[in-house]
Amino acid sequence: MASKSSRQSYSHNHNNGSSSSSSTSSSSSAPASRTTVGHAQPAHNSSGRPKPPSATSRRSVTPNSRTQSFHSDQEPRRVRVAIRLRPRNAEDLLSDADFSDCVELQPELKRLKLSKNNWSSESYRFDEVFTETASQKRVYEVVAKPVVESVLNGYNGTVMAYGQTGTGKTYTVGRLGKEDASERGIMVRALEDIIASTSPPSDSVEVSYLQLYMESIQDLLAPEKTNIPINEDPKTGEVSLPGATVVRVQDLDHFLQLLQVGEANRHAANTKMNTESSRSHAILMVHIRRSIHEKVNDEINSQEKGTKSDLFDGNGIPIVRKSKLLIVDLAGSERIDKSGSEGLLLEEAKFINLSLSSLGKCINALAENSSHIPTRDSKLTRLLRDSFGGSARTSLIVTIGPSARHHAETASTIMFGQRAMKIVNMVKLKEEFDYESLSRKLEGQVDYLTAEIERQQKLRDDGKYKLEKQLRECHDSFAEARKVLVTRSEILEKENIHLESEMKGILSELNHQKDLNNLMQDKVAKLEMSLKHSEQHQLENSTYQKVLADTTQMYEKKMAELIKQIEDERAHSESAEEQLALMKKLLSEHQKSIQGQKQIDELALKLQEMYQLHENTLSELQSLKSENKDLLLQKAKLNEELHSMRQRLLEQEKQRKGIENELIKLKRAVPENENDFEDKKSYMKEELSKGSSEFGNRMGSYRSNPLRENISGQRATIAKICEEVGLQKILELLTSEDSDVQVHAVKVVANLAAEDINQKRIVEEGGLDALLMLLRSSENTTILRVASGAIANLAMNEMNQALIMDKGGALLLAKTASKTEDPQTLRMVAGALANLCGNEKLLTVLKEDGGIKALLGMVRSGSSDVIAQVARGLANFAKCESRGVIQGHRIGRSLLIDDGALTWLIANSNTNSASTRRHVELALCLLAQNEENAKDIISGGGIKVLIQISAESSREDIRNLAKKMLRLNPSLQADMHAR
Ligand code: ADP
Ligand code: MG
Repeated sequence: MASKSSRQSYSHNHNNGSSSSSSTSSSSSAPASRTTVGHAQPAHNSSGRPKPPSATSRRSVTPNSRTQSFHSDQEPRRVRVAIRLRPRNAEDLLSDADFSDCVELQPELKRLKLSKNNWSSESYRFDEVFTETASQKRVYEVVAKPVVESVLNGYNGTVMAYGQTGTGKTYTVGRLGKEDASERGIMVRALEDIIASTSPPSDSVEVSYLQLYMESIQDLLAPEKTNIPINEDPKTGEVSLPGATVVRVQDLDHFLQLLQVGEANRHAANTKMNTESSRSHAILMVHIRRSIHEKVNDEINSQEKGTKSDLFDGNGIPIVRKSKLLIVDLAGSERIDKSGSEGLLLEEAKFINLSLSSLGKCINALAENSSHIPTRDSKLTRLLRDSFGGSARTSLIVTIGPSARHHAETASTIMFGQRAMKIVNMVKLKEEFDYESLSRKLEGQVDYLTAEIERQQKLRDDGKYKLEKQLRECHDSFAEARKVLVTRSEILEKENIHLESEMKGILSELNHQKDLNNLMQDKVAKLEMSLKHSEQHQLENSTYQKVLADTTQMYEKKMAELIKQIEDERAHSESAEEQLALMKKLLSEHQKSIQGQKQIDELALKLQEMYQLHENTLSELQSLKSENKDLLLQKAKLNEELHSMRQRLLEQEKQRKGIENELIKLKRAVPENENDFEDKKSYMKEELSKGSSEFGNRMGSYRSNPLRENISGQRATIAKICEEVGLQKILELLTSEDSDVQVHAVKVVANLAAEDINQKRIVEEGGLDALLMLLRSSENTTILRVASGAIANLAMNEMNQALIMDKGGALLLAKTASKTEDPQTLRMVAGALANLCGNEKLLTVLKEDGGIKALLGMVRSGSSDVIAQVARGLANFAKCESRGVIQGHRIGRSLLIDDGALTWLIANSNTNSASTRRHVELALCLLAQNEENAKDIISGGGIKVLIQISAESSREDIRNLAKKMLRLNPSLQADMHAR
């Protein structure tokens, strides 16, 4: 719209109404120079010509340009002048019937041609030329709308209608157009646009409606208010009417009502004063206040920026634009004398026209660039001071009538317009900061922020309190949890230790069990083997028995046959004797009957034969009898053998059953748990010791009877084996590469050595050497044990004792004693040495070979059996020594003392083992017999022991011996007395 209006109204230019005179040019047509009114000097260029208004500068106000205008806010703008021709009315038609029009319009050229007469005319150029057909709307848009827009942008503006009465000023400006909206005049249309462009409540549109008549301002909205004074701000030059009613316009209807009221009041006033409205000026004042929220940075210049940006950081600063629009319907411009108001005084007439004539003078002065502008001469010029040559944007609509009758008036009116076109105003943006509303806004913000801060503070405090509470709770629960954890971990640790120890125990138990298991499995295997053997044996026995039974049966049958034969022979012989007797009788009878010699010879021969037969039969009988006797003997023998065989078989059966039971027990025991274990273990021990007892029973070991029977049974078997295999071969097996073979061989040899009768043979056939060799070289515990046992057995024989010593047996035994910890082996070794101690001739060598030391060393085993053998040995030794002393071929103290035997004997005189104790007591008594030993006995505390023995020994002979020793040994006697 703006651009359109621009094109329509000001497209060409500024060369205000340069006249292009058609014929005779008029002197007044072209304005020569531009003038401005005093205080509002435009920023002229050097030529003094004001800068031509441009569409841009007029139309749009960019922030920059506005900022500029706000501070150095002046922009040259010429007063715009348009001319409007009223259509002919009835009166015109009547009066101008013989006249042609004096006015010719050239709207396309924006020219008006005014004819003086038929041959002369003058042409005037205006900013716009409206023909009689121009619509109210177009007039508004071209003349008033640019001003209205300017006013909405913050500039003051003025729209005025100037013209002769009846030319249509009021029609153009003040028409309400109640019936026909197209007839609405500038006032209604302007307000319509203003109301549409403002937004209450931040914006406001206020109106005052006034009438100026006879230099008196009357309020048309409150007609009682007359003579309203004009107030001029000395600083700003702002003109105001503080006494006038100001009504804030709500909407267009409200404004129409106000206009109507004003019009009615104007009419009433004029009627009352008996005046014509054409003599008064109607002035509508529109005060517009618009708020513009824009960034501070856009609003302030660089100088103020630093301070203000701190103050309004980022906030919109309210800017308010205050502008004023004046729409003036001037009084008729015709001369007063012509108006036909005859009743008025000249002074009055002058007064009536003062304002308008004063306006004319001012415009003339302005147009002529006069130094003095007489604005103060009238109220109208004071009110319009800003509209002409001031800071307002001004449009003037000049109305003319077509009638030639008013040619002069029309011409003067046109000239007024032409002069007005020369006036340049310096438009000024009326814009200011709305500090009041800013302050209100800021206060509101401060209040809001204060409340917000308080709220936040409260929230923070609450949050802080809550957090502290939570923290405390957390601390508490943490401490508690820690406590629980500590106790828990302690318990767990304890449990752990306990479990570990338990586990260790179980592990060791398991290992132990595993060992025992292995041991038992070995034993089971052995027992199974032996069972198998025994079964085989039994099988053999049964076949043998069968054969025996068969043989017996056969013999019995034979014997029965023989007996029958014998009986037959006897019967035969008896019948032969009978026959013989018969023959003899016959013979005698024959002799008696003296029958021939021949017959007798024959009979004699026959008798001879018979006798011979009888003899043979008798011898045969004899042999048969002896044969029978033999057979009976044989039978008895066989029966005996059978019986013993059965006996053995039964024994073996029993043994086998025993073994089987044991095997079952063991088998049962093997997979079972440790609860049964202790019993089995002891059983095992017994089983293990059985092997050694086979050849050790003679050395004072006590075994149950069934066991001994078993052993003797086995010995018999072994003897049988020996008989069959031959001792030599068995002895050869002792040197076998296979240790198993060696073990079995040495066991056989040891068993054989247990029998006196075998000992000589074993030694003769090199068995002793072989056994000593085993002691020397073998590392096998069983071999060492059994070999030692065999040697011990052999050492029972006095002859063998010397041999053993000669062959270094004592040394070997001592060595064996030192290198083994097996109590069974130690028992064997100790037994062997003890046996050797019983040979008086060997005592010195035995001592020298370390026999005594070895004996005493073996007590370390703690085994009562071993200790018993040691005590026996020492007793043997002491006995031999004592014998030697008595017989006089031994002198000096006992060899036992050097090796610490005396000390040991004294120390062990109270031992629990009866056998050991007996031997210890005996040895001590025997040592006490030798005067030479007395000193050592006394120093070793032996006296006390001997006294104790003499009193407490379980054996009477030893008690007596002790008493005797105490009595007979002078040194002991002396010591006793000394005590
Ligand atoms: P003024 O106010 O200048 O004395 P008015 O506005 O009262 O003149 O007009 C006088 C008469 O002319 C009125 O009856 C009005 O309706 C009529 N009139 C004026 N101008 C026009 C126009 N342009 N078109 C039609 N009628 C008009
Ligand atoms: Mg009028």
